[in-house]
Amino acid sequence: MSKTAIVIGAGGFIGSHIAKRLKHDGYWVRGVDLKQPEFEPSACDEFFIGDCRNPQVVNFIIDQKVDRVFQLAADMGGAGYINTGEHDADVMNNSAKINLNVLDACRQQGIEQAFFSSSACVYNEHNQMDRENPDCREETAYPAFPDSEYGWEKLFSERLYMAYNKQYGMRNRVARFHNIFGEFGTWTGGKEKAPAAICRKVAMAKDGDTIEIWGDGLQTRSFLHISDCVEGVMRLMAHETFHGPVNIGSDYMISINELVDIVSMIAGKTLVKRHIPGPQGVRGRNSNNEVVERELDWKPPQDLVKGLTATYTWINQQIERQNEASNIIRNTNFR
Ligand code: NAD
Repeated sequence: MSKTAIVIGAGGFIGSHIAKRLKHDGYWVRGVDLKQPEFEPSACDEFFIGDCRNPQVVNFIIDQKVDRVFQLAADMGGAGYINTGEHDADVMNNSAKINLNVLDACRQQGIEQAFFSSSACVYNEHNQMDRENPDCREETAYPAFPDSEYGWEKLFSERLYMAYNKQYGMRNRVARFHNIFGEFGTWTGGKEKAPAAICRKVAMAKDGDTIEIWGDGLQTRSFLHISDCVEGVMRLMAHETFHGPVNIGSDYMISINELVDIVSMIAGKTLVKRHIPGPQGVRGRNSNNEVVERELDWKPPQDLVKGLTATYTWINQQIERQNEASNIIRNTNFR
């Protein structure tokens, strides 16, 4: 009998990669999402379109005891989505409902282990004011003061997964992702995150052009390629006793200006940066990897150029494909 898993949010960026990895590892996989994966067919054995805010949908999806549940669904996006305040009520309401429903269904089916994707956005804003020395050690999430409502929901849900461990003897695992990027991720439309947005802007620019950057570009972040994120998740789920919360991110911190320079270098273009007002989030953020290295005996790789090259190449192809499609439509005489 093969091992079985359910992936909630299997149509999204990280969920679709996790489904692929589970298939590779020999699992039978059922996925659910509001939408199919945008850029390639799902790897899941069964894929349902459904809204997990609805408990009936979740009870239908989690209708049997499976070995593992991976909960990646959330109402989320980059700074342009979660740091403007425009979506706060929806973000909190939608994501909390999904987590409440998933845990309830897991408990009813006697499922022992669910994975919850939390975020670096849980960390206290006051510890992320200094762009060169942000403090994102796991224990510094308390006293809590996340800079977005998205972060507050994540903190609540982390506690919810841990409460089910305590009260119902589950073995849930919680990871705090730090800026995961890569191929098959959202790259346009307003929900994309910094690496994808910058790859798109650079790909669409001509050599010598000017591109717009939100803020002064001195804000710092670290970025982890999706393949390494999936590896971290699998290691956390495989661990006998350690349940997190644990950072899954890179500890190679750079500024947004430096990120633009690396992507421009990959593209072989010299571009001028124009700094414009825009949502930026905290001033500095970096994954602290002491706990992940100690507990999972694993050091997330720091090779940013390799991951960005693959991502830039993929986004560039998407843009070329879109351009070809609009040329065909423009040149076709519909009569
Ligand atoms: P994503 O937006 O690509 O994936 C989330 C998926 O959830 C989407 O496909 C969406 O359709 C689905 N979803 C939303 N509401 C739903 C609903 N009501 N019912 C069913 N499906 C629903 O985002 P992602 O980057 O793949 O992120 C996955 C998880 O990791 C999320 O929980 C996110 O908060 C967390 N996370 C991601 C990052 C990152 O850098 N990508 C960083 C920190 C945390």
